[in-house]
Amino acid sequence: MKYLSTRNSKIKVEASEAVLKGLSEDGGLFVPETMPVLKKSLKELSSMTYREVAYEVMSLFLTDYTKEELTACIDAAYDEKFEVPDIADLHKANGAWFLELWHGKTIAFKDMALSILPHLLTTAARKNNIKDEIVILTATSGDTGKAALAGFADVPGTRIIVFYPKDGVSRVQELQMVTQKGKNTKVIAIKGNFDDAQNGVKEMFNDKELAKKLSDKGLRFSSANSINIGRLVPQVVYYVWAYAKLLAKGELKEGEEINITVPTGNFGNILAAYYAKQIGLPVNKLICASNDNKVLYDFFKTGTYDKNREFILTTSPSMDILISSNLERLIYHSAGNDSDKCAELMKELKTTGKYTVTSEMRERMKDFTGGFAVQSEVSEIISKIYKNDGYTIDTHTAVGAFVADRYKKESGDDHLTVIASTASPYKFSRAVVGAIKEKEFKTEDDFALIDMLKELSGLPLPCAVKEIMDAQILHDTVCEKDKMKFEVEKALSL
Ligand SMILES: *Cc1c(COP(=O)(O)O)cnc(C)c1O
Repeated sequence: MKYLSTRNSKIKVEASEAVLKGLSEDGGLFVPETMPVLKKSLKELSSMTYREVAYEVMSLFLTDYTKEELTACIDAAYDEKFEVPDIADLHKANGAWFLELWHGKTIAFKDMALSILPHLLTTAARKNNIKDEIVILTATSGDTGKAALAGFADVPGTRIIVFYPKDGVSRVQELQMVTQKGKNTKVIAIKGNFDDAQNGVKEMFNDKELAKKLSDKGLRFSSANSINIGRLVPQVVYYVWAYAKLLAKGELKEGEEINITVPTGNFGNILAAYYAKQIGLPVNKLICASNDNKVLYDFFKTGTYDKNREFILTTSPSMDILISSNLERLIYHSAGNDSDKCAELMKELKTTGKYTVTSEMRERMKDFTGGFAVQSEVSEIISKIYKNDGYTIDTHTAVGAFVADRYKKESGDDHLTVIASTASPYKFSRAVVGAIKEKEFKTEDDFALIDMLKELSGLPLPCAVKEIMDAQILHDTVCEKDKMKFEVEKALSL
């Protein structure tokens, strides 16, 4: 199975090349030429381990990796780095199942994909006889950065440069990044927001002159952002795994449809759920949950995507995004896999900041429904679930929980609901403790809040938190948003 660019279906590459490149040279995203179908029944999957399910799902998409190669990647990724034996976990609360995806090294769901991406990438380089050193260039809204740094630190043949918005991440997120060890790592704060960081990175990817300078030095860029199919494909796995696990627990009958609610920013995690449905997972609705930056909610409601609005910094910073890159893949599929139509809309987005899809396209997106939660609603649901179920969730997961709750009440749709739980509450202690205590904590020390959360939640302190407690700050570069390229050239001595 080949991968095509969403903006030009004449560009066709193997899966491993798509993983290596990240983004197509025309600025498009790689999409599978045809959707594969699960080979094993859900019943068969229900007795498998996470790694086995991972193989079943990933082998459908990464068709030019051999069985040995893919198994080696999976085994290297999903091991004791995860603090629960099953890699992911399921927890019932508030009438839904929370799919906990944050038991990895950096306590956010990004670990699920970023612990395997370095292996997929170095394997792809070997398969394609690439001798260049791979430079991972990444923009982060907080969690991708650290998960990518952790995944790539000291991986031979790679370097990694991460840009994050200086005032757009939590203190714990920032500390996790700026204390990153590894000779091949570089972390840079920019004076701007996530969209600025993401745009700067995208421009560098499309910069021919920069590419030439890199190749003269035996270097080449690749991306660890969720636009890379090497991130998307591993994310399909846990939705299939969750279904299989619920089936094994007797919570579902084989073939029974479920609803999946995903707190969304860049539209990567929910797109993975959509792909899970495409390959045969019985899914009724995909519920896209936004925070105050509800550009996706408005899109699903009206058919117009419009990023011309105020950017709001919220208590769920990893979802503070106005340009959801992965939506381009859904646009392409809903246009009937028409890359010309997709290219036209993306051009409109670039020039006017908005576009409107056709009614036919909207019809093809009807599996999706959107919802949003403002910050007071996020606090409300954290407090409610804490009081009623004794379960503590983070602010991002809370966006999902609130939206799932409201959707169920308003629609009467009572399919079993799985909510993607995307971060450990420890990552956002200030907001979570504030919600539970119904009090605003502005000046308290972050570590004091972590202690309070430990007391309140009874959750064991993850290694990721212990690590930053006395780690040294190793990265302190801050740059203007139009100086990103300069910083990259400096870091790579170009
Ligand atoms: C990245 C992130 C999200 C959003 O995921 P997307 O794939 O960008 O939609 C949600 N919650 C947390 C905690 C995240 O780190």
